[in-house]
Amino acid sequence: MKIGIIGAGFTGLSAAFYLQKNGHKVTIFEKDPNPGGLALGYKEKEWNWTLEKHYHHWFTNDNHILNLAHEIDFPVIIKRPKTSVFLDGKSYQLDSPLAILSFPKLPLLDKLRMSFILAFLKLNPFWRPLEKINAISFLKKTMGEKAFSMLWEPQLKNKMGKYATEISLVWFWTRIYKRTPSLAYPEGGFLKFANALASKIRNGGGVINYNSEIINLSDSQTAQITYVKNNKEKTEKFDRIIVTLPSFLFLKIAPDLPESYKETLVRLRGLGATNMILRLKKHMLEDNTYWLSICEKDAPVMVVVEHTNLMNKKHFNNEHIVYVGNYPDPHSELFIMDKKNLLKRYDPLLKKINPDYQKNIISYDVFRAPFAQPIIPTNYSKLIPPFKTPLPHTFLANIEQVYPWDRGTNYAVELGEKIAKIATS
Ligand SMILES: Cc1cc2nc3c(=O)[nH]c(=O)nc-3n(C[C@H](O)[C@H](O)[C@H](O)COP(=O)(O)OP(=O)(O)OC[C@H]3O[C@@H](n4cnc5c(N)ncnc54)[C@H](O)[C@@H]3O)c2cc1C
Repeated sequence: MKIGIIGAGFTGLSAAFYLQKNGHKVTIFEKDPNPGGLALGYKEKEWNWTLEKHYHHWFTNDNHILNLAHEIDFPVIIKRPKTSVFLDGKSYQLDSPLAILSFPKLPLLDKLRMSFILAFLKLNPFWRPLEKINAISFLKKTMGEKAFSMLWEPQLKNKMGKYATEISLVWFWTRIYKRTPSLAYPEGGFLKFANALASKIRNGGGVINYNSEIINLSDSQTAQITYVKNNKEKTEKFDRIIVTLPSFLFLKIAPDLPESYKETLVRLRGLGATNMILRLKKHMLEDNTYWLSICEKDAPVMVVVEHTNLMNKKHFNNEHIVYVGNYPDPHSELFIMDKKNLLKRYDPLLKKINPDYQKNIISYDVFRAPFAQPIIPTNYSKLIPPFKTPLPHTFLANIEQVYPWDRGTNYAVELGEKIAKIATS
């Protein structure tokens, strides 16, 4: 079959890879000049490696993407980094049962209670009963007010903003159940990995059209897409079309979708992502922490990630690379603020973390994604759109269908694998 794929993120790339293995002819359309989507990387001229615009790593049990890396002979690095929380102006390592028990801010009884609940979530493989439960109510009740309000409430609120009170326990569960203390990372960066996958697709006869934005999809007797490349409009026909865009973008390009179906997609909500990347002469997180969750109340930042505390700084001209990340509503002031004002907003918190960081800035940039994190309320399984759309030859495989796991490139690969089978069966 001749199959058109919209989007060269990891869902689109892996769908193309698996379709091609089964003898189908694939063409990918991507509006950006490079593959990778939300995991897109870039390179400053002084660096040997590429860097993701938004912090990225894999867990060591992310088997779909790790198997794919293995299949295309792409080297992967495994490391055990340090994870900490920032609370009342100080960092505390909190990434193992022992670290929890030595955490000085909670009485022993609260720590035991919290450890018991975390152990229950880590060992319980059954997610269905959890999806009906509200995360905040459960955590408050079971861990106790103190541990909840000190550690988990600020993290949930800093990440989910106004949606925090709606989040299902299943979303919290995946973060405990599925995550591993050791992390994996593609050698050279996610862009290098995406390009390696793209080369395999091209070498197998597939076509990847970069700088090609789809502006229309129509599908009744025949399925066709219209795209703009170099200011020229072109239309191509396909036997099947796979859309990997978030639902709000699918709605924009496919005006012929029936109203009742459009309503089901409009119900899905999401948050944007903003990441400021600081290139520093010295450490931001001097204790070698890779991932620092901010537990200060109403902080403008959710996390500070020192990438070069995971990957060696020699690949980045010995610079210390630091992400300052949050997930604002795409319509909020934080999402549109210019980089100077954003740094001003972050500055009081960043100074608390490292009073000297400003002196060490080489340069900084801000990257944004309008749809980065689906909101997972209770009973989300009832809201997920099906792979088959009402259009006869068009299939949807996107970030909002990743469930019960939290979205990630591993699940994008799993989705790509799945849709390759479904669209051609
Ligand atoms: C801040 C942040 C941190 C994350 N951290 C991690 C992590 O640590 N580990 C991990 O595995 N995952 C992480 N993720 C999630 C991961 O990036 C995504 O789950 C995954 O990349 C989704 O892939 P996708 O192909 O489904 O979608 P996308 O990556 O969104 O791909 C869709 C593609 O479609 C293209 N497109 C859009 N409109 C059009 C159009 N009209 N025409 C043509 N092309 C179009 C886009 O440019 C994009 O390339 C993170 C995401 C964010 C935002």
